[in-house]
Amino acid sequence: MSQTPGTAALPFTERLDRLAEVAVRVGLGLRPGQELVMTAPLEAVPLARAITEHAYKAGAALVTTFYADDAATLARFAHAPDEAFDKAAGWLYAGMADAYRGGAARLAISGDDPSLLAGQDPAKVARANRSRSQAYVPALELIAGFSTNWTIVSAATKPWARTVFPDLPEDEAVARLWDAVFSASRIDGADPVAAWGEHNRDLARRTERLNGSRFSALRFRGPGTDLTVGLADDHEWCGGATTAKNGVVCNANIPTEEVFTTPHRARVEGYVASTKPLSYQGTLIDDIRVRFSEGRIVEAQARTGSDVLAKVLDTDEGAARLGEVALVPASSAISASGLLFYNTLYDENAASHIALGQAYSKCFRNGGEGLSEADLAERGANRSLIHIDWMIGSAEIDVDGITDSGEAVPVMRRGEWAD
Ligand code: ZN
Ligand code: ZN
Repeated sequence: MSQTPGTAALPFTERLDRLAEVAVRVGLGLRPGQELVMTAPLEAVPLARAITEHAYKAGAALVTTFYADDAATLARFAHAPDEAFDKAAGWLYAGMADAYRGGAARLAISGDDPSLLAGQDPAKVARANRSRSQAYVPALELIAGFSTNWTIVSAATKPWARTVFPDLPEDEAVARLWDAVFSASRIDGADPVAAWGEHNRDLARRTERLNGSRFSALRFRGPGTDLTVGLADDHEWCGGATTAKNGVVCNANIPTEEVFTTPHRARVEGYVASTKPLSYQGTLIDDIRVRFSEGRIVEAQARTGSDVLAKVLDTDEGAARLGEVALVPASSAISASGLLFYNTLYDENAASHIALGQAYSKCFRNGGEGLSEADLAERGANRSLIHIDWMIGSAEIDVDGITDSGEAVPVMRRGEWAD
């Protein structure tokens, strides 16, 4: 741990403490008496401890943390018997689901090595992911439906920093990545919690305007892209703070710059090219080009990682359809850093994007309150074990909102808000 010379006004430990406070107060909005379930990479112990401290100061009843260890994951791929790759810790995810139903909040620290599994057998990686995803469903449904308050925040780990800054010495790479994490997480100003309040108000104004427009589709146009994304019936734009079903206001992603909603699973037409590489569970999928017909990807190619992309699209029936469409100005703070983070939490906040797979049930009128699975399906919400965001926005992309009568209204021009 070190401080970047000359740039950071505050010492590293103070910035880490501020990030922990933002995670607990803004990310979770943790209530006195709530339990907290946290997951973290081993390298994020200092941040996890700072978060634990702030959680107890906020009145947490109990903080339980599960650490993941890259070396242990690799040991599995090196030595576990073949049949073991269909195994997942279902008991753990069932326990997490129990905890959420009992009122626990959820915090994940991300900072994974983006290429951890790059050298492993793609079939084993896919099987391990699929069994984990299936086992995770009971917990994921509660999280995706905001039954409880939750947040994801990042820690600058060594393998992540090495990937983002391959040419820098490791210490310097880690310090530079922490700088980027702190700055994107808005913790450097006089009052980070107040800064988040203002940012949430900006995002709320943007979603209100889009919700007022009630577009039936969005059309993206630019190099390699002419894509019309039909929006789900009764869709609602979301962004910034969310009121979870337990009444707690949380910010699910720290940082966040996006406003997003639910596409109609059967009304996506045209072709689209990715504008940034997609880092998916250890593999980099670059230069993705796909064509949609009636909502489904019918042609897909990628310059690298095309075998992994094909496996992803094959996960289940909903994996080749969209569950999210999101707008982010090309000038967002994260985009302005010019860095490729190989981490969805960061890269998805640098560009407009679409996500393959599961839709968010809260992106419907009244936050999707009272809508059954059948109601959601009827409105066009997609269902899948996966949810994978990939970037299609840039300073070369125009976005129009299409009204019910077919009129095109400028929403973004050359990657920036049109109004
Ligand atoms: Zn998104
Ligand atoms: Zn997403």
